[in-house]
Formats: sequence, structure tokens, C-alpha cells
Amino acid sequence: MREYQNYVDGEWVEALSGETMDTTNPSTGEAVSRVPKGGRDDAQRAVAAARRAFDGGEWSDMPVERRVEIVRDVANRILDKVSDIAAIETDEAGQTIRMSSLFGIPLAPEHMRAMCSTMLSLPELEPLPFNNYPAVSWNLASYEPYGVCGQIIPWNYPFIMAVWKMMPALLTGNCVVVKPASYTPSTALELAKIMEEAGVPKGVVNVITGPGGAVGEELCTSAGVDKIAFTGSTEVGRRVMQMASGTVKKVTLELGGKSASILLEDADLDVAVPGALWGTFLHAGQICESGTRLLVPSSIYDEVCERLKAVTETLKVGPASDFDSDLGPVVSAAQLKTVMDYVQIGLKEGAKLLTGGERLTGGDYDKGYFHQPTIFVDVDNSMTIAQEEIFGPVLSVIKYDTPDQAVKIANDSIYGLGGSVWSTDIPQAIAIARKIRTGTVWINDFHLINGLFPFGGYKQSGVGRELGSKGLREYQQVKHIHVDQTPRKDQKFWYMVLGV
Ligand code: NAP
Ligand code: MG
Repeated sequence: MREYQNYVDGEWVEALSGETMDTTNPSTGEAVSRVPKGGRDDAQRAVAAARRAFDGGEWSDMPVERRVEIVRDVANRILDKVSDIAAIETDEAGQTIRMSSLFGIPLAPEHMRAMCSTMLSLPELEPLPFNNYPAVSWNLASYEPYGVCGQIIPWNYPFIMAVWKMMPALLTGNCVVVKPASYTPSTALELAKIMEEAGVPKGVVNVITGPGGAVGEELCTSAGVDKIAFTGSTEVGRRVMQMASGTVKKVTLELGGKSASILLEDADLDVAVPGALWGTFLHAGQICESGTRLLVPSSIYDEVCERLKAVTETLKVGPASDFDSDLGPVVSAAQLKTVMDYVQIGLKEGAKLLTGGERLTGGDYDKGYFHQPTIFVDVDNSMTIAQEEIFGPVLSVIKYDTPDQAVKIANDSIYGLGGSVWSTDIPQAIAIARKIRTGTVWINDFHLINGLFPFGGYKQSGVGRELGSKGLREYQQVKHIHVDQTPRKDQKFWYMVLGV
């Protein structure tokens, strides 16, 4: 079992209480690592360290080119360690080794490179339009860091989520306190080690493991935190927003989803059927933007269902560390129970199982949390399984008659994170994509998040954007600087209003 300490003010420390907590391998039920069980006091200590580091100016006043150099160095160090980090992600988060080593971890340095080049293209000072009211003045926008950012991340992509949070904050000159999910704290601590090796000054990065109800809530309510960035469930996200209101913090949220894939009549089914399944079953469906509703025209409904079933039944569910596993386990016993409960609700509400529907049992399956890839057909969009996020390997197939009807169904959701359109008619697909009320729509693909482009939610899927220039600007406030161009007092006729 690996043992970790927290990283605070450039030191590796135990929780102030001395308590620890263990994580579990969801494929085997075995303990993976032991980390400090931090509390509110640990969070306060980290916030104070981040505040001292920010106010000290070593990082916040560092030329942006130098910060970019350090982040690029961190990216290169990650590349050298992809297989080590991937192995931890696989053991702790249950990402299949194929996913973590080919996608989950290598995507992080790729996104960091994109963030760095975008950062260098964003002006720190920007001239504003010519102004002659009430007289000529010269005006500038100055983009400045918020200060201390509290960052709370989930368990599904723990490493890349830590990168998405920390790197934009650091590139823009902020200091951070990161709280990883309690199921998967290890790789964020590995990232802190790499950042220490790369020479990030002490106090700039702090990582505190511990329960969301203690460490997370302290970050949301602390007067020492200027911005809170949260990725997780919509339920906790609502609470984060409420808690942050006490000190009027800047808040960005990346929350749940119930994304729809719209298959059009002219779609190439050889691409669209595996594509829709890639959108749904990657990481056993535990991805916020997963395409968990598939909308299919009635004219090709039976053929599509047949093909979906045939491909799904070839998928191999097994231990995440096995290179042959297509799907690994879900993250925990609680998550497995949630998935099984939703399957029962689906059946009770009248949906029909096309394939799957059961927990996998027998032999090694009994030690972990494995569920069959599951497809429901004859789903009505008003059913619970079409409205609520399951966060497991469950696809709902919904029939439609016209593209307008498909758009209406796609938009009939409290969520608005992602989605896809499958068609050989690209102008038509773009027209439909523009009507879908979500932050991302892929045409003839899914899950291809890119560090250059914004990612985030409409509606109850979130507030703000990550990645791209928008993602960096979320970590900056803008100051307007007004430079007077009327040096003589008699030109400043507006002083007459007061009579000075
Ligand atoms: P979660 O329960 O909301 O937890 C997310 C994080 O919040 C964890 O670090 C958790 O800590 C912490 N937390 C829990 N209660 C808190 C509280 N009262 N105050 C402050 N922090 C608290 O979500 P999850 O179950 O880990 O992740 C699954 C959800 O995340 C899904 O709904 C999914 O859609 C969403 N998600 C969204 C995105 C996106 O980019 N939009 C990405 C990934 C996941 P503990 O682990 O200690 O409880
Ligand atoms: Mg939770």
C-alpha cells in the first residue's frame, strides 16, 4: 500500500489531527493507498500558506513567460512518468489501463501545452476603444489573478481534473489549495510532487486530502479564498454556490450531464453505432459529458438497435489493470448500487432491456464493482433513466420522427453539458448542433475535449468554462485603468458639478 502526506507550504505533512483514510481498488476491493484525513484546520493552514505565497509576489509577479516555462517543465516530467501515474489511476479510479495509459494521463500534458500557448497569446494589458466622453482619455484593461483559488475535484478523471484546475490558475498567477476526491486522492499528490521537483515556489500549490464536508466546505466558506472552482455532482455544486455567497467569491462549476447523441437518418451507421457506444461506455459511463441518451429516427430504429446490441455484447468487462478489459468496474460499492437501482427504476417505468442490466458476479467479479454495459430501448424522455444522471454504463435509446423533435427531446433536460450529431450532411449537422443547448457538441464523434477549446455547461451543468482562452480568463479579474488626457483644470468642466 502506498502512503502519502499532504503538501502544504512546500512541506509534506500529516493531518493536524493525525488521522488517515484508505482508498480501495474498485477492481479487487483491496486497499490501494493511505492518505491524511484532513479537516477544516488543515484547509485553513493551506489557505494561509497560499495567501502568504500570493501576497509575497514571487509567483504572482513572475513574468508570464517564466510561469509558462515552469508549467511546460511539469508537462515534460509528467510525460516521463505516464506509465507510473496511469498505473495508480487504474488501481484507484478503476480506469482501464488502456484508457489511463493511452488517453487519461497523456492527455494532461497535451492540454497543458495548449494552455501554455494560449496563455502566451493572451495580452496582460489590452487597449480599450478610443474614448472622448466626457473628454479624451486613454483606457486599458489589465488582467490580474484573483489570488487564492480553492479547487475541488471528482474521482472519475482525478489526474486530468487536477491539471485542468491547477494549471490555468497557476499560469495566470494565482496560488491554489486543491482538494481531491476521497476515492482517488493519490494522483493529485503525485502531481504536487512533480511540481515541487519542477521548482514551483513553496505555498503556491497546496493539496489537502479529506472529506468534502470538512476540507471542501472550509474552502468554500473561507474568507481567505478568492475563487472556488468545483467539478462534481450538480447536487454538491448547488451547495458550493450557496456557501461561496457568504464571502461573494468568484465561482466556476463543472457539474453533471445527461448528454444526447442525435443520430440522423443519413448517418453512416458503421461509424455512428460504435461512436455512440464510445460516447456512452468509455470509463463505464462515469464521465460527466457521456452520451447517455441516444436519439434514433423511427425509420432506422430496429436496425440501429440490432447493431447496438451486437457491438455491446462483444465488450469485455474485467479488472481495470487487464489490457484486454474494455470496461472496468464502477468506482465504489455505492456507485454500483446506484446503477443497479436505476436499472430497476427503468424496468418499473416501462423501458425494455436490449442488453445487460445485471451486476457481474462469480470468480474475481465478486471482489469488485462490475456492471454489464446496459442498453434500454423504448425509453420515453420523461422517464427517470432519461432525466437523471446515472454515472454508470447505462444507455437509453429514444425514438423520434423528425429532426425538430430530436432537438426538443435533447433539450428537455435540466442539464446542458455535451452531445453529438451523427450525419453525413455536415451543414445540416452544424445547424442542429447550434440548436442544442449545451456547452459542447461533437459532430460524428464524442469525448474529444481539446485544451485549445472551451468546455463547460449550459443550464444546471455548470457556470463558466475550462480550457481555451475562456478557461484561462476565468482565473483573472479585469481592471479598467483610465488615463486622463485633459491636463488643465479648466478642461475638466465636470468638476463644476461639485463646484471645486
Ligand atoms: P461529488 O460527490 O459532487 O464530489 C465531488 C467533489 O466534491 C469531491 O472532491 C467531494 O469530496 C467534494 N465534496 C463532497 N461534498 C462536499 C461539500 N459539502 N462541500 C464541498 N465539497 C464537497 O461528485 P462525485 O460523486 O465525486 O463525482 C461525480 C459527479 O461529478 C457526477 O455528477 C459528474 O457528472 C460530475 N462530474 C462533472 C464533470 C464536469 O467537468 N462537468 C467532470 C467529472 C465529474 P469527497 O470525495 O471527500 O466526498
Ligand atoms: Mg459524492
